[in-house]
Amino acid sequence: MLYQTLVDIYEKLNATSKRLEKTSILSAFLKNLQDNDVEQVILLLQGIVFPIWDERRLGIADKLVIHAINIATGKSPEFIEQKWKELGDIGDVSANCVQKKTQATLFSNELTLSKVFTNMQQLVSFTGEGTVDKKTALVAELLTNATSSQAKYIARTALGDLRIGLGDGTLRDSIVWACFSQQIGLVYNQAENDVKLDEEQRKKYNEYTNLVQSAYDKTTDFSLVLEKARKGEEALKKITITPGLPLNVMLYQKAQNIADAFATVGQPASIEYKYDGFRLQIHKIKEKILLFTRRLENVTSQFPDISKEAKLAINATNAILEAEIVGYDISSGKYLPFQNISMRIQRKHDIESTAAKYPVHIILFDLLYLDGRDCTVLHYHDRTELLAGICAQSKTFYLAQKIITSDEKEAAEFYNKSLLNGNEGVMMKNLSSPYQPGSRVGYGVKVKSVMDALDVVIVGAEWGEGKRSKWLSSFVIACKNKDEYPAIGRVGTGFKEKAEEGTAFAEMTELLKPHIKPQEGREVQIKPAIVIEVHYEEIQQSPSTAAGYALRFPRFVRLRPDRRPEDASTLAEIQKLFTQQRGRTKNI
Ligand code: ATP
Repeated sequence: MLYQTLVDIYEKLNATSKRLEKTSILSAFLKNLQDNDVEQVILLLQGIVFPIWDERRLGIADKLVIHAINIATGKSPEFIEQKWKELGDIGDVSANCVQKKTQATLFSNELTLSKVFTNMQQLVSFTGEGTVDKKTALVAELLTNATSSQAKYIARTALGDLRIGLGDGTLRDSIVWACFSQQIGLVYNQAENDVKLDEEQRKKYNEYTNLVQSAYDKTTDFSLVLEKARKGEEALKKITITPGLPLNVMLYQKAQNIADAFATVGQPASIEYKYDGFRLQIHKIKEKILLFTRRLENVTSQFPDISKEAKLAINATNAILEAEIVGYDISSGKYLPFQNISMRIQRKHDIESTAAKYPVHIILFDLLYLDGRDCTVLHYHDRTELLAGICAQSKTFYLAQKIITSDEKEAAEFYNKSLLNGNEGVMMKNLSSPYQPGSRVGYGVKVKSVMDALDVVIVGAEWGEGKRSKWLSSFVIACKNKDEYPAIGRVGTGFKEKAEEGTAFAEMTELLKPHIKPQEGREVQIKPAIVIEVHYEEIQQSPSTAAGYALRFPRFVRLRPDRRPEDASTLAEIQKLFTQQRGRTKNI
């Protein structure tokens, strides 16, 4: 397949903001793909060349792409940087430079999809001396043979910022349309931008959507889902949980207090400590251990200590377990707040010494797969019994503390005990519910002491003045709404001046710098990448924010490197909190 065929799709998707139209364009394209193009197309549509859970990442610096454009087009790095500031997008700059060049020269090699894909993948294969030059040459080779519009997407893909507004939801729906529109009787009316479905068709549509979503949640692999869906419903239904492929985790709803929690999960319920760490999926495949965060990042190499423990402690050939990873203070033996170990998630160097300095406990709370058996269909009670049966507990590897009760008073005492032990609260779980990957169903709820916490994405900031001129401050924060990130205000408090005191402005600036959209002036826009937790007094309706709501007195609490922007609090959640906050009781 020619790369231009995909570029045409990028351009068409870019040209419309209508979700149904995007779905129609994409589904027609996916339907007619050759089998052997499926994997590369699906990844490139997501703007990546390795699956999300792959340890390999492109990690290309802006400078490298500038240099590659320079080699391919002869434009000076200063010119390219200036253009970037003017146009605000490296893709447009790249297209512009190539356009000017191609007026003079004719290129000979037409780029194929696999040439672009292979060159991009090769970018991570070099180490040692000359690495940067070799990488630059690979990108430059692509740009040299590219047309102006191809150059735009090559540069954007290299820098991981595709900007075609394609979210997971649209991709999922496109697979449904591409593979099951006949069964549903679905026809898209472009003039009206509508699909008219009667009740029966709507039911079928929902069934197929759930089927595709469920296959995705079990494997988080859209290529595999498309490949099977193209073969038909039966093939799609056969997709099962596979050790090595991370699942989308089940999420827990929030309960106001213990009585509210019982009302959702029923009585009796299991009540577990809610540990304040980060969630980890532990996959055991014979002698191999793979570790994935909640955002499906493969962090196996960052946590050799956990792998070592897991190999010894899990008595099964193949298994997938869920755990909360908590840091502890070696001298006092007490748990540490999440921030203290969060940096281990991103650590690439000095892994062993960091592991020794910041040791962790691995606290298991669920079992999703065991030796050929999909455990997510089992009841919570049976899953946790099996889990207890295969785990040899040690000082650092153990099961979550829990009680099973119907009694509110006993539950409240356990809640207080959990807080006294330095935890965040409790999780309350229905005893006979399955595990539903990818959804926030009420099979379990969390009861926390602080109810007013939101995970928000930083989408803008302001350069400071005077002695703070090197720092970004006054961060624009946003929630998630479908594929967009509407702002819900700004946060400036809670950050420290000095690193020793906590998360400092300097650290925030370093983290955000690679995501700043190039532009002049003090006010900058930032690509959604960094998620933070904020507390606030109240949610107010606001005509001046894109979300229509604003947080009163927002305060930064901590970084959430374990979250993707897609995992941020949604506008729907904020609306719900807004309606709930009247008459709310914080009593437990
Ligand atoms: P929060 O921000 O409150 O941690 P969240 O958005 O990460 O919530 P939720 O599913 O809403 O995710 O809340 C449950 C989280 O609590 C889990 O993701 C997990 O990391 C953590 N946790 C701690 N202890 C437990 C436990 N015993 N059972 C399940 N999850 C636990």
